[in-house]
Amino acid sequence: GVTFRDVKKMYGDILAVENVDLGIEDGEFVSILGPSGSGKSTVLRMVAGLEEISAGEIAIGDRVINDVHPRDRGIAMVFQNYALYPHMTVKENMSYGLRLTTDLSSEEIDTRVVEAAEMLGIEEHLDKKPANLSGGQQQRVATGRAIVREPEVFLMDEPLSNLDAKLKMHMRTELQRIQEDLDTTTLYVTHDQEEAMTMSDRIVIIANGTIQQVGTPDEIYNHPANMFVADFIGSPA
Ligand code: ATP
Ligand code: MG
Repeated sequence: GVTFRDVKKMYGDILAVENVDLGIEDGEFVSILGPSGSGKSTVLRMVAGLEEISAGEIAIGDRVINDVHPRDRGIAMVFQNYALYPHMTVKENMSYGLRLTTDLSSEEIDTRVVEAAEMLGIEEHLDKKPANLSGGQQQRVATGRAIVREPEVFLMDEPLSNLDAKLKMHMRTELQRIQEDLDTTTLYVTHDQEEAMTMSDRIVIIANGTIQQVGTPDEIYNHPANMFVADFIGSPA
């Protein structure tokens, strides 16, 4: 799992998040839900090692990762804009990280890539460039690139926000299925409450850089901890 102990992030003089205390169990799917600017991405990016932790500790399993190189944290991240390499094929996009950070043989890497591509239904696109794929297919490539790493923790920052409504619904179900199959601890950032409600084991509600409530979708909806949560979720009055 992932443990946050009194985590704080300053960007220069700007306080982005503080007092983050949170324990995520192995195999749990936890969403971080909150309005724009509330600190969701900051929390995720600290786990990924894309931002330094200003104070407090983050641990994956029982290993504190504050000073661990991002490559050695056992995480893989899916970004909102997918961040695919435009000059590489789908197959190259999915295998690049593995070539760089593991000593797997080419055959082992190919096997993993093909398995992930089949899981995501993009096996016939492996030799195409990202520009020749639909948004939904690009999203699958980004997800596949994370899956092949076999990370201990999946980090996803608004991975479905660029898809149309219908595809978004479909991918919600698919991501859930994949997460269940792989049983990987997942930290999922979204500002879409329906997404959080339908996909998560638990939801973390964040506003203005502080956690407002942590609970199951049912607890959050039926027992909001404060007015902010009730308003944001639209709980029955
Ligand atoms: P969104 O839903 O719009 O993506 P968010 O919840 O992910 O928002 P963050 O990106 O984590 O929010 O930002 C939290 C706060 O930190 C905001 O006030 C933001 O302006 C500030 N912030 C984020 N990144 C930086 C940065 N690199 N430098 C300075 N301030 C930043
Ligand atoms: Mg964000």
